[in-house]
Amino acid sequence: MKLLLRNAKQLVTCSSAGQPFKRGKEMSEVGELHGADVSIEDGIIKEVGRNLSLANCDVVDVSDKIVIPGFVDPHTHVIFDGSREKEFAMRAGSKSYSEIAANGGGILDTVRATRVAQKSTLRHLAATRIEKMLRWGTTAIEIKSGYGLDFKNEVKLLEAAIELKDEVIPDVAVTFLGAHTVPPEYMDNRAEYLKIVTDELIPYIVEREIANFCDVFCDNGFFSLEETKYILTSAASYGLRLKLHADELTSSGAVMLATELNAVSVDHLENISPDETEALSASNTIGVVLPAVAAYLRSKPAPARELIDKGCAIAIGSDFNPGTSMVDNMQTVMWLAISMNGMTVEEALNSATINAAAAIAMSDRIGSIEVGKRADMLIIDAPDYSYLPYHFTENRITNVVKNGTILEFH
Ligand SMILES: [Zn+2]
Repeated sequence: MKLLLRNAKQLVTCSSAGQPFKRGKEMSEVGELHGADVSIEDGIIKEVGRNLSLANCDVVDVSDKIVIPGFVDPHTHVIFDGSREKEFAMRAGSKSYSEIAANGGGILDTVRATRVAQKSTLRHLAATRIEKMLRWGTTAIEIKSGYGLDFKNEVKLLEAAIELKDEVIPDVAVTFLGAHTVPPEYMDNRAEYLKIVTDELIPYIVEREIANFCDVFCDNGFFSLEETKYILTSAASYGLRLKLHADELTSSGAVMLATELNAVSVDHLENISPDETEALSASNTIGVVLPAVAAYLRSKPAPARELIDKGCAIAIGSDFNPGTSMVDNMQTVMWLAISMNGMTVEEALNSATINAAAAIAMSDRIGSIEVGKRADMLIIDAPDYSYLPYHFTENRITNVVKNGTILEFH
């Protein structure tokens, strides 16, 4: 299958010039070309430039369109059953997220609904959500477990995630988040649950190859720094790559731990400390900012402006989940990152593409429009790329190209 996109009014490459991601000032540059073509063969970008020719190919005239890389959503909890609008309403009153969690609501509410759901039901629910995300331009996604919280149900969620790969969306990074919160049956015996995570689940998951990453919710009321280190060290010893929910509710030192353990990403960062900012900027760990969560919780947004100014590599994600972000759309996430976290349009775009790909360790093959990468692109009918986060409620994407194929939506 060969495809030639001809004469784009505006082509935004988000090229990182051979580097796995962009950091600090580099994030201001999106690589804008005018009148450029893109030739694609077997799903891979062959050439980017003017007046390209390609024999026996489909030609799409994009002279009145904008072409950008497909969005990568590097942080989602997309597999779950149930919904938590009542909790949303309680928070709109006077209850805090931590109070609701301490009373058995929050994550545990979704755990109850998800444990009793069949794998096929969960897979169907997630597939429907992901198909919607694809229409809004997300062409690669990370999916976490974490609503099972026992051996059988965590495995069920990871298997459902693996089955979504290729069937619904080819690029899926699967993350084991057995340490999302302590399940109710182990509230008085946390150590025993930690052992199930490290001695039973992690070896099984690695043997079955049903996850790429291990993640821990390290925060007040969830897992302590010591517990987090214990789990992540075990995961790393089995070859899983590391992610971390860090500094969402309090400053816990988790960013320091993530950089010490060479985590691929450290996510949330609403309460990152100055020392942690320094450590993050000196590391190759991607800081993933999740603006929708701060909006849902009416809490302080992560200081993305300061983090970028200090030289950090920042990505953005939806954190799509039933409690604190029902935002499934990276165009909305870009708008929030600009409006609430002080990012520029260019920084938000790089954060949603090349840096988001780096946050799931896939930037060698997706995240930018560059020769040799997978042809994941969005064709957009708008005056300028900045129109996307500006008018984020209207989907201006006319075509989603995934692996060099123009997707048909029904
Ligand atoms: Zn999350």
